[in-house]
Amino acid sequence: MEVDKKDEREPESSEQVVNPWEVSAKDGGKIDYDKLIDQFGCQRLDESLIDRVQRLTSRQPHVFLRRGVFFAHRDFNEILDAYERGDKFYLYTGRGPSSEALHLGHLIPFMFTKYLQEAFKVPLVIQLTDDEKCMWKNLTVDESQRLARENAKDIIACGFDITKTFIFSDFDYVGGSFYKNMVKVAKCVTLNKAMGIFGFSGEDHIGKLSFPPVQAVPSFPSSFPHLFPGKDNLRCLIPCAIDQDPYFRMTRDVAPRLGYSKPALIESSFFPALQGENGKMSASDPNSAIYVTDTAKDIKNKINRYAFSGGQDSIEKHRELGANLEVDISVKYLGFFLEDDTELEHIKKEYGEGRMLTGDVKKRLTEVLTEMVERHRRARAAVTDEMVDAFMAVRPLPNMFE
Ligand code: ATP
Ligand code: MG
Repeated sequence: MEVDKKDEREPESSEQVVNPWEVSAKDGGKIDYDKLIDQFGCQRLDESLIDRVQRLTSRQPHVFLRRGVFFAHRDFNEILDAYERGDKFYLYTGRGPSSEALHLGHLIPFMFTKYLQEAFKVPLVIQLTDDEKCMWKNLTVDESQRLARENAKDIIACGFDITKTFIFSDFDYVGGSFYKNMVKVAKCVTLNKAMGIFGFSGEDHIGKLSFPPVQAVPSFPSSFPHLFPGKDNLRCLIPCAIDQDPYFRMTRDVAPRLGYSKPALIESSFFPALQGENGKMSASDPNSAIYVTDTAKDIKNKINRYAFSGGQDSIEKHRELGANLEVDISVKYLGFFLEDDTELEHIKKEYGEGRMLTGDVKKRLTEVLTEMVERHRRARAAVTDEMVDAFMAVRPLPNMFE
């Protein structure tokens, strides 16, 4: 059995930092994802796994799989082995409600999770860590809970199936079997270990120390007795961005000691900042981010003003040399959201060889993102408070595997 490697925090100041609280590349370079795979000890998601997904689901894999947005995993092969034998699994993802509106980076795991839910026909639990944001962002309890409900509307707008989806707020749901699992996990993790994994220091308040078990235990089916009674062996698959890996390294480390299966993970790279791939799109830097609440005009302005261009300084030079696609953010974004493979290849060729200009590519990206954001806005406007209550009701889901 493979042993999950520990995170080596305390990098040199010029090294890249990737943890749940900070993402930055080494000295203005790009995030080195190969290095992360090595450092974290996860596995690369290779073509053969993607082919298997296609075979097992009888549909084309999501663009995020085809184009390597989700690029790493832990035991995803075991989930597929089990599925092939007829054993289903459940999905677990989440959101820390730190802001009123979500940006496109926040949507990535939800768009992908929705695809997985549909393709594999499996249930899903979504944790809203309002407790975490209250402790880290200095929000009041009431404000965190309010943001959790607001964010739930954006999540529901992604199109999840209410007959297969349970959304919960930590403040409301923690207790009972969930809390018993938290205590079991907490007993297995020493202070030294938590400091090693998460970089906590003696100056951090103890609320932070107490949090990792809260994010750990949705990985165990017994934390949801209304959903999975008698299904203690049901496997869990967690789609998330790779910065969440520390939580699940800890979880996987303790699971066997509790007699539980380790959760499997499928992990994404970061949706980059408008300014370039040395950072992720982040709410802390409003100019780096496109929000689901941005108007068509906002989107156009942000792309024109900030999206880093790989085009040349002058038109003559551009026609001669073509664009540097490696650093061009508009091309990168189209890689996430332009579904048509043929059109994407065409743009890359024409732009890379200097026949298309940055302005042309930005115009196409503006159309693609505006359409997507408009669609999201309409879907969100249709989400009522009653729907939020219904998704968050503690209830059995009798048809969740159909
Ligand atoms: P802040 O800058 O205030 O920390 P944020 O934009 O990083 O805000 P968070 O609420 O911290 O947003 O994000 C929570 C989680 O959402 C992150 O830990 C990460 O897993 C995911 N996430 C955030 N931004 C991105 C992104 N650009 N690409 C992919 N995932 C992201
Ligand atoms: Mg953050």
